[in-house]
Amino acid sequence: MVDTPVIDKTAAARAARFRHFIDGEMVESADGRMFEKRRPFDNSLVGMVSEAGRAEVDAAVMAARNALNGPWKGISVEERSDMMRAVADGINKRFDDFVEAEFNDTGQPKTMMSHAFVPRGAANFKSFADVVKSVAGEAFQTPTPDGAGAINYSIRKPKGVIGVISPWNAPFLLMTWKVAPALACGNTVVVKPSEETPGTATLLGEVMNDVGIPKGVYNVVHGFGPESAGAFLTEHPEVDAITFTGETRTGTAIMKAAAVGTRDVSFEMGGKNSALVFADADIDKAVEGLTRSIFLNCGQVCLGTERVLVERPIFDEVVARMKAVAESLRPGHPEDKHTNFGPLISQEHRDKVLSYYAKAKAEGATIVTGGGVPDLPGDLAKGSWVQPTIWTGLADDASPVREEIFGPCCHIRPFDSEGEAVRVANDTEYGLATSIWTSDLSRAHRVAQEIDVGITWVNSWFLRDLRTPFGGSKQSGIGREGGVHSLEFYTELRNICVKL
Ligand code: NAD
Repeated sequence: MVDTPVIDKTAAARAARFRHFIDGEMVESADGRMFEKRRPFDNSLVGMVSEAGRAEVDAAVMAARNALNGPWKGISVEERSDMMRAVADGINKRFDDFVEAEFNDTGQPKTMMSHAFVPRGAANFKSFADVVKSVAGEAFQTPTPDGAGAINYSIRKPKGVIGVISPWNAPFLLMTWKVAPALACGNTVVVKPSEETPGTATLLGEVMNDVGIPKGVYNVVHGFGPESAGAFLTEHPEVDAITFTGETRTGTAIMKAAAVGTRDVSFEMGGKNSALVFADADIDKAVEGLTRSIFLNCGQVCLGTERVLVERPIFDEVVARMKAVAESLRPGHPEDKHTNFGPLISQEHRDKVLSYYAKAKAEGATIVTGGGVPDLPGDLAKGSWVQPTIWTGLADDASPVREEIFGPCCHIRPFDSEGEAVRVANDTEYGLATSIWTSDLSRAHRVAQEIDVGITWVNSWFLRDLRTPFGGSKQSGIGREGGVHSLEFYTELRNICVKL
């Protein structure tokens, strides 16, 4: 991912370098512009990241355009599928490097990288290698007045150069979730990873070269959003479509850019997900699933739960048991095997989460546990840590109940009827995911169909099958990705009508 640092007296000059990956080469910005990448758990410097200007973004987009019309164009679906498998194998060959890069990016415990996030990144390439090989077209026999008829059939073509804008919360998994189907469908990509997580996207460039993906098919430019690489990429007229994961308000800005040239978008955005726990639920399983959905990745999971609704007869028991789990979490150095709770991504994000901890207090919450910053020794005290936090007693219109916080926290509210639970769950501008905990099968189906979200789990959470449609309703997204649904965005469906 990074090369030997230049020997110099300044820390910045000694640090690792994250360069753009353009047309198969690692390059720095012509004006030498860079920004710092720091480790979330102790704020130490990981390295310096090149910041792309318009010139670098233009070079990356034109490399993608040339590859699309050049070496990538003649490659058959079977060959592309084999290449996607080779990329997955290439990632697995350098598994430890990817774990290290993801660890430096996010600061979460390494077990999470090695058990979930890196293997899932490789799995994305394998999954879409299979999908593209098994897609059927459609055909119709059409009657005509002369009686001879016509045949209509459809074919799928790559959409073109895809701009991929990705977030920091599970950077490798979420970036490959878009890059894998895009390339498997024959497109070329320019990726703008989050400024917080430059590591794995850069490292993937090396794998692309190692396994022989033609130059220019996969490109990476680093930088920020507005007035930087993100905006330059989404505004670029040679980008045919944009796939984005991140905050809803960023999606709004990107949609405005995409409107120029009426380019297609696929958006996976914010959420304020609910969980509904009925009195007949298996409480052990519900508490285990709920607490995972709230505290995993320090609460920085788009599908995570921030609003827990519990049927009144079991309310006190569920609150007490969730409090016990929250207080058993152990923050610490992410390489310590006893650590099972990591930091937030950055000091800036910590300020945001702590502002909601303060708002909850000011708006009258009962703080069941947490609400502050944990005491950690030595350099860890400089990291972006917050305590796992549970509130009760907030009104339905309180800001910590309505706005996405994206931290390790939730509000727990009692309910008295199924209708009330459904009404409260739907009382949000978001519609990403929900989980329902009950042993009544009829109720599970009934409630699942009433909640306005893209993904509903019953008696589980984050159980993913990559072939299923993934995406959000309302302000949580536009479009669905996953399995054949990804083809809707990453290919252009064309109709051919043959008069017989
Ligand atoms: P963000 O919107 O701040 O940034 C995401 C990306 O957009 C980054 O690469 C950023 O540099 C870029 N960006 C920002 N402004 C831009 C602009 N004007 N033009 C072009 N690019 C721009 O999001 P984040 O803080 O990195 O991620 C957290 C958010 O992502 C949360 O809201 C979370 O819910 C959401 N998320 C959603 C899903 C999902 O599947 N629905 C998955 C993961 C994260």
